[in-house]
Amino acid sequence: MAPYSAWDTDPEPLPVDSAPVPEYGTGSLADLLPTLAAGLGVPDMTAGIAELAPADRNCVFLIDGLGWEQLRAHPGDAPFLTSLLGSSRGGTGRPLTAGYPATTATSLASVGTGLPPGAHGLPGYTVRDPDTGALMNQLRWQPWTRPDVWQPYPTVFRLAQEAGVHAAQVSSPAFANTPLTKVALSGGTFHGRLSGEDRVDTAAGQLAAADRALVYTYYAEVDGAGHRFGVDSDTWRGQLAHVDRLVQRLAEQLPPRSALYVTADHGMIDVPFDEDHRIDFDEDWELKAGVALLGGEGRARHVYAVPGAANDVLTCWREVLGERFWVASRDEAIAAGWFGPRIDDRVYGRLGDVIAAARDDVLLIASEREPNESAMVGNHGSMTPAEQLVPLLEVRT
Ligand SMILES: [Zn+2]
Repeated sequence: MAPYSAWDTDPEPLPVDSAPVPEYGTGSLADLLPTLAAGLGVPDMTAGIAELAPADRNCVFLIDGLGWEQLRAHPGDAPFLTSLLGSSRGGTGRPLTAGYPATTATSLASVGTGLPPGAHGLPGYTVRDPDTGALMNQLRWQPWTRPDVWQPYPTVFRLAQEAGVHAAQVSSPAFANTPLTKVALSGGTFHGRLSGEDRVDTAAGQLAAADRALVYTYYAEVDGAGHRFGVDSDTWRGQLAHVDRLVQRLAEQLPPRSALYVTADHGMIDVPFDEDHRIDFDEDWELKAGVALLGGEGRARHVYAVPGAANDVLTCWREVLGERFWVASRDEAIAAGWFGPRIDDRVYGRLGDVIAAARDDVLLIASEREPNESAMVGNHGSMTPAEQLVPLLEVRT
């Protein structure tokens, strides 16, 4: 497998091994909370991100959709975050890899469980439930399935709380009781706050509430603006400026012996609206042949074949998509480490028989089955640096 750092901006087409896999174990989102928890003395936690120094009070501020490359390209809209990229203010900015696919449900589960997707088992925006054969949307948890069976591992928040650490999540009230919160971000106390200002003020209060703390807070609207209007739109830039002020507001309220970490669940890439950049599965009889279910999203597809057709589908998808996608069989993707170093038995059947990850600024839309998703400007999911690299910025007191 190729290490992530071996990314080449103009790679040769296109063996599966040429995909730059996430840096599971040393520099992925799944390594963040275990590293912080290890610094707090929580048992059985591995400090995979070597350069993070322990702190007594730890806060993770997750900005949905703000990739490392997009932040670096907009210093004027994000002066405070940009100041954390260098050595000023004690900042030690660096990127992490989100994990594959680079999508919210997958990444939030990686953050909260401290496990890669192959273990926590939320390996896509939609995946097949092997018990029912139906496609399941993991962000909306539709159709409903038992959360504790789908993702049985305790969160790092829960393990920290059991070890005497004060654990808290501060997010939208809408997320208080969702299955995704339960499997990924529960353990400790949940504080629903509507406004960003209320959230960061509450997060600061939760940090100060105990000598040892692990606090999480979240902001969604950078991602929403990118999907609707694009990464460089006025709306997107306004959201970036807003969240920049929220991070500064939180940084200025940190109690002593704190570390604030700003990160994201994935980056984003704008995809032009023409037939060359938006291949429509629903209009393509070659791509549809032998496919029972289409999962994932436009830049990270899980393809479930009708029985006996997996090899034919793989051959056909490779031919049609050429060098614009990495196209792997399930076992090739697993062997290459796309979903992490191990795949739990219960997760294996959730992965597509064929897995297609976009390399160029291209989408595999499905205009009939996914009309809303197919109309988005900004997209994410695959392993390119624009999507895969997320910031890890630090403020310490
Ligand atoms: Zn998104």
